[in-house]
Amino acid sequence: MKVYKFGGASVKNADGVRNLERILKNYTGGEKLVVVISAIGKTTNLLEQVLDAFYYDKSQMPDLVARLRENHYTIVRELELDDNSLIMNKLNGIFEELDELLSGPHSGNFDYDYDRVVSFGEILSTTLISTYLNLKGIKNEWADARLLIRTDHNYREGKVDWDESARLIQEKVGKILFENIADIVISQGFIGGTEEMLPTTLGREGSDYSAAIFAYVLNAESVTIWKDVPGLLNADPKFFPDAVKLDQISYEEAIELAYYGASVIHPKTLKPLQNKQIPLYVKPFMHPEESGSRIDAGKMKKHVPCYIFKTNQVLISIYPKDFSFIAVENLDEIFAVISKNKIKINLMQNSALSFSICCDNKVHKIERLIKDLSVKYRVKYNLNIELITIRHYTDDIVSKVVAKKDVLVEQRSRATVQLVTM
Ligand code: ASP
Ligand code: MG
Repeated sequence: MKVYKFGGASVKNADGVRNLERILKNYTGGEKLVVVISAIGKTTNLLEQVLDAFYYDKSQMPDLVARLRENHYTIVRELELDDNSLIMNKLNGIFEELDELLSGPHSGNFDYDYDRVVSFGEILSTTLISTYLNLKGIKNEWADARLLIRTDHNYREGKVDWDESARLIQEKVGKILFENIADIVISQGFIGGTEEMLPTTLGREGSDYSAAIFAYVLNAESVTIWKDVPGLLNADPKFFPDAVKLDQISYEEAIELAYYGASVIHPKTLKPLQNKQIPLYVKPFMHPEESGSRIDAGKMKKHVPCYIFKTNQVLISIYPKDFSFIAVENLDEIFAVISKNKIKINLMQNSALSFSICCDNKVHKIERLIKDLSVKYRVKYNLNIELITIRHYTDDIVSKVVAKKDVLVEQRSRATVQLVTM
């Protein structure tokens, strides 16, 4: 069996849904499939707004929910079925559940409510698509990932209980596929559930990870992520018009790229696949006949330089107030504050008198961090910084990239250079 994953962008409108249909019809070779689908288009962002309104400004809610409904109804209408009442009825049932949730008071636990509300996106998309495909003769079973991917209670960043998830997935999805109830199972990316069946989510953009979980547990032959790019590129074409496709890369290299922030694949996706040597394909959903990129255990023949640009960074430099040197005790204390504020460090560097970190500029988080650090340290920071990572660099490449930029910090290892610039 194989696992396919379709992201929100690939099913953002009726053409996308029809394209998914075409891919399932023409490119599966009769294979048994688990199809993991994200929320449609920008639905997750919209649901985040709904949740904000639920907490802070209820007057906004009706408009936002109306938009959510309309986005889904538009797709159903544009699919031009002779009779779409089955899909409409199912979607309406789900919207009623959402309305009911939102008509009550919130729980006071924002993250818990986040998962309850935001998980509706994937429930809506998969219900719409699964029902549509059945109507079009592509027989499939809808499976509820909230009952399959078991997580702890760490809402918004659920930690997967692999043993329990394996048991549940093998029991339910395995049964459908291997007892020939249907050849295709459609399930949701991004969402899971606790043992009390409370919905959880796996972190933004977590659908790739869901695909890897299903693949790992069911010993899939491969995973294919269908995307709106030709494959894995060596740079984001937004910053780098000359980006080229990487035909094959190793798991290790892909893990490195994801770690440094290449936004192609969710970082947690690769490790489980590597452990079972399940190849991962990244393919263009508009051109399914193309080869795309393949991530596998193979050694790479040659290394193409890869560029990862992270904008909206902040560089924070931390100095002991008494002008003493930075020592292990300071670092201990500084890390404790960073970890308490749940900040992810993208780069760090220490010198005799200061310790510097570069991280994403997440509005409230960074303010809080600086405030906490300022209790015992003198803190300086630069906003609007860029972090550039180049894998397999040459001096020539580095000088080209930093021409006309101020380099504030530079770090080199054999394979990677990182530059903090403005
Ligand atoms: N719908 C979720 C998000 O937008 C998960 C995903 O797309 O992978 O973050
Ligand atoms: Mg998405």
